[in-house]
Amino acid sequence: MVILHTFTKIRKYMLVQKFGGTSVGSAERIKEVARLIHTGQPKIVVLSAMSGTTNSLVEIAGYLYKKNHEGANEAILNLEEKYHTVIDELFESDAYKAKGRELIQSHFTYIKAFTQDMFTLFEEKAILAQGELLSTALMHYYLSEQHIDSVLVPALNFMRTDKDGEPDLFYIKENLQREIENNPGHHIYVTQGYISRNAFGEIDNLKRGGSDYSASLIGAAIQAEEIQIWTDIDGMHNNDPRVVDNTHPIATLSFDEAAELAYFGAKILHPASVQPAKIANIPVRLKNTMQPEAAGTLIGNKSEGKGIKAIAAKDDITAIKIKSGRMLLAHGFMRKVFEIFETYKTSIDMITTSEVAVSVTIDDTRYLNDIVEELKKYGTVEVDQNLSIVCVVGDFIAESKGYALKIFQALENISIRMISYGGSKHNVSLLVNTADKKEALVSLNQNLFEHV
Ligand code: ASP
Ligand code: MG
Repeated sequence: MVILHTFTKIRKYMLVQKFGGTSVGSAERIKEVARLIHTGQPKIVVLSAMSGTTNSLVEIAGYLYKKNHEGANEAILNLEEKYHTVIDELFESDAYKAKGRELIQSHFTYIKAFTQDMFTLFEEKAILAQGELLSTALMHYYLSEQHIDSVLVPALNFMRTDKDGEPDLFYIKENLQREIENNPGHHIYVTQGYISRNAFGEIDNLKRGGSDYSASLIGAAIQAEEIQIWTDIDGMHNNDPRVVDNTHPIATLSFDEAAELAYFGAKILHPASVQPAKIANIPVRLKNTMQPEAAGTLIGNKSEGKGIKAIAAKDDITAIKIKSGRMLLAHGFMRKVFEIFETYKTSIDMITTSEVAVSVTIDDTRYLNDIVEELKKYGTVEVDQNLSIVCVVGDFIAESKGYALKIFQALENISIRMISYGGSKHNVSLLVNTADKKEALVSLNQNLFEHV
């Protein structure tokens, strides 16, 4: 009871700070993050793998699946080499350099062992976990070399998904609480993003980009004061900065607006990560490691400012149209159509209907052929690829008048394939050819943000 009480007291002002791959992408970046977290406020620091590492591990696993041991060995040695450089630059003393080398040796010996054996999904997950295990151990060592107290909390001791592959919040909460209570009185708890165990206790992960999700789950589990997601951009921008000039960070967003933007293309935040924070009502702050003084974006339960806030775009969209004059009016038709997508675990992003046809979009085309074959039972099916969803996000209740006009005026010269409006009060989605995306984003930017 006494211990629980202490925990309750700690968590009241505990922060979660997550640093992405580029933020810990070199020895120099790791040192910078160490400075940023050394503030005296109790916190859980969640780290991604150093940038490039997870991609290399995916590549290594790919070679091993194909039994290309030569390719695997070469990729493993290249990655190992990179870590040796990091060790040389990160640590000052010979003692820590030696500790670092030992760490690398143990992880790479583990990876190399898989080149001998059978290779399955389980081995792949175990290999992918090495990136976050390495980055967090390096941070922990660096902090201790700098005489900054920290505790390394293994995510594999508390992060877990259930039999449906969804995070097991109860388990996470109980076990994370225990990990912290077993190590009371520290200010910095360092743990791995992305990696988890599945319902069988095997090593698994929360899918690519999943460290944000880890941070949000951890924040919800400890009722953190705030969840901070540190990356290399100064917050969520009002348009895609890779495509459009003159974008600016948005100061505040509601959870719903942030979820729409993350889902429809804003790369800064993993879409699933909004939900746990929203349910626990914990603010999420997006910050820039390269410019720590910049305000960033604050995501919370209220949205300040009305009207249109931002535009995002998501590529690699496939549209499927099912035409069936005969069936469509009959009730139960939609259910049958959706059931096919459900069977193939393929989620639908946009949907529009008319008397004779229903069109949907998907981004996961792994089962496209099977889906199309089954849909043919109900009518003629057309498939269209190389499309992008352009999504305009904001708070459309208060001042919804006139916005549709501005949006369509901006897209005057662009052929719009589908429109979805009204599904939520935060989003208007438009489907365009990917070849037209840039023009659409630039023109929307001018009409919605520049000439107001
Ligand atoms: N390291 C993982 C990835 O690259 C997870 C993450 O960075 O969020 O996907
Ligand atoms: Mg990320």
